[in-house]
Amino acid sequence: MSGIGKGGAQRPIAPGPIAPGAVIGILGGGQLGRMTALAAARLGYRTHIFCPEADSPACQVTPLATIAAYDDEAALAAFAAAVDVVTFEFENIPFATVAILRDKVRLRPDAEVLRICQNRLREKDFCGRIGVPTTRYAEVAGPEALDRVVRDLGRPCILKTAELGYDGKGQVLIEPDTDLAAAWNAMAGGGAPILPAIVEAFVDFRMEASVIIARDADGHCRSYPLVENQHKNHILDQTIVPARVDPPIAERAEVIARHMAEEIGLVGLLAIEVFVTTDDEVLVNEMAPRPHNSGHWTLDACATSQFEQHVRAVAGLPLGSCEPLGDAVMQNLLGDDAERWLEILSAPGAKLHLYGKSEARPGRKMGHVTRLIRKS
Ligand code: AMP
Repeated sequence: MSGIGKGGAQRPIAPGPIAPGAVIGILGGGQLGRMTALAAARLGYRTHIFCPEADSPACQVTPLATIAAYDDEAALAAFAAAVDVVTFEFENIPFATVAILRDKVRLRPDAEVLRICQNRLREKDFCGRIGVPTTRYAEVAGPEALDRVVRDLGRPCILKTAELGYDGKGQVLIEPDTDLAAAWNAMAGGGAPILPAIVEAFVDFRMEASVIIARDADGHCRSYPLVENQHKNHILDQTIVPARVDPPIAERAEVIARHMAEEIGLVGLLAIEVFVTTDDEVLVNEMAPRPHNSGHWTLDACATSQFEQHVRAVAGLPLGSCEPLGDAVMQNLLGDDAERWLEILSAPGAKLHLYGKSEARPGRKMGHVTRLIRKS
């Protein structure tokens, strides 16, 4: 930990810790980048955001930003030269972008982790290879193959784009009477979907839940407790901490998370969304190699927030405690919900977080509020 870093302070010596004062580069300018930048600042780091949109939530909290397209090679080279390590705040960064960066600067998590997490088929194939249970699924190469795949998996099932879908976008439930051509067109949303797509057997779940795990460069893991996620219109509405399940189910989810983090060679954070089925199975649905909406409660109700933990892992620092300070409920503020800021601020114990977005479109994540539940 000696020498002068790009931020004008300590320069890292690979592969040891990157000392405070260094510059952490973040690809993506959304709220996850904003909250990561704020956590980094508390630990004495600077952050440099790379994203295409000016005045994004993350750019509002740090003076260092490159506003450029993800395929702007000159801008990427300059960004790589200006930072000590690069991470990302969402996984839909074009892979070509990280392929350019990885030759120039340390990237955490590494490009292969991102490659797996960018595609639902690769995620589920990865789970299958390492013995982690998922729902049954099949690749579907094009509309003509859909009929056979749906017959094999049975109805109901769900047709999804393998890439670039989020919050239920690019997904169609195939029920007993659903016309398959119409389902394909609905998934494609009027455009040409990236092929192949995926069909998943419908899971009869009693709960959606998630685990967030951190792993450092020496292989130490720490995971936050299993939390329960309630969605409205496919968008996360509430996270309830901890998940209301029997301890063996929570333990199984944490064991799965650890196994996945180790097998994928994670350095950073991995959020794993699971279904708890009516038979008490734990099936992995999705994974995201970054802070996650279902971990926002950790800002106010945990010894170390997921954002600080992400910074610690990326910078090669010791991981912090994931111990909750108590039970909590995190409520997302979507669209106009954020207009209730004054009322929320008036409630004792409610911790409000707004993301600085100017336009409150319906369903857009504008902020969240966490309430600690005091046990009597
Ligand atoms: P996803 O984008 O995969 O997280 O899916 C969005 C939402 O659709 C999930 O939160 C679930 O409520 C539902 N869903 C997704 N896949 C399945 C499945 N295989 N079976 C049942 N429900 C699902």
